[in-house]
Amino acid sequence: MNVIGVDIGGTKTLAVRMESGIVRATERFELERGSTTIDSITRAVEKVVDGPLDAIGVGVAGLVRSRDGVLVWGPHVQGTNIPIRSELENRFNVPVSVDNDANTAALAEFQSGAGVGYRNGLLVTLGTGIGGAIYVGGEVYRGESFAGEWGHVRVTDADMLCDCGKRGCWESKASGPALARLAREVVQANPDGSLARLLDGQEITGETVVAAADAGDETARALVTEVGLALGQGLSDLIAIFDPEVVIIGGGLGSVGESIVGPARRVVVDSLHGARLRVPPTIHVAALGPTAGAVGAAMLASEDRNGA
Ligand SMILES: [Zn+2]
Repeated sequence: MNVIGVDIGGTKTLAVRMESGIVRATERFELERGSTTIDSITRAVEKVVDGPLDAIGVGVAGLVRSRDGVLVWGPHVQGTNIPIRSELENRFNVPVSVDNDANTAALAEFQSGAGVGYRNGLLVTLGTGIGGAIYVGGEVYRGESFAGEWGHVRVTDADMLCDCGKRGCWESKASGPALARLAREVVQANPDGSLARLLDGQEITGETVVAAADAGDETARALVTEVGLALGQGLSDLIAIFDPEVVIIGGGLGSVGESIVGPARRVVVDSLHGARLRVPPTIHVAALGPTAGAVGAAMLASEDRNGA
């Protein structure tokens, strides 16, 4: 089966073409300004297509109604209720499956990445915000449609405004932008300090702060740890609710690895109730990197095609 998976994010699109479950082509490109979501996906598909196509899968950030393939709302897109499935089926004349990008990444991680061998687990994606997916009995659990949007549970009394319009959301404490905000505060308070000198002339983002931490800057390391601790606080709540076998941490910031996940693990062990009488879930860093969402979208399309 020749299937294309597309992961459409805030600034980048990633497309893969898979044949019989093996990735044959990968393309990654920046989103064009002013381009609609449908046009961006179309361009991605045309970039990797080769030979007769059997199905297309799409993973997209936001509130996705998978059963009819509608993007109800997305943080990075213009417009609401975008009928991705029907528009693409009209253009390409093959079956199209659409899901939230964390759900497609979870499919990939649980079937061929860090989650192999586990039946019940959570994927928590840490990047521009926090996304997630719930994997139960070998399948993604979607609730009525939108389960797993835990970046917007309130974990802090601080009145930091979140992109969603609410205050105190988990992702406003634990995300790339949260790390950048902490660093900006340090640089402003101490413009002659080591971090200010290291970041001088660079845009302060989650990535540049992580790079400063990796370069050995103690202040940057402390900030990365602080975000890791905030990640752990939220994970403890999720574990209290779901009691999963495994939690996989993915996304751009999550894939940084132990400097973020290590502190989170410590918080989980310390804050789990009945900690001495139970085994805390394994917390793994995602294994598939940035292609997980696109690969999972292709897997979803294959599954839907086979099940049809
Ligand atoms: Zn929010």
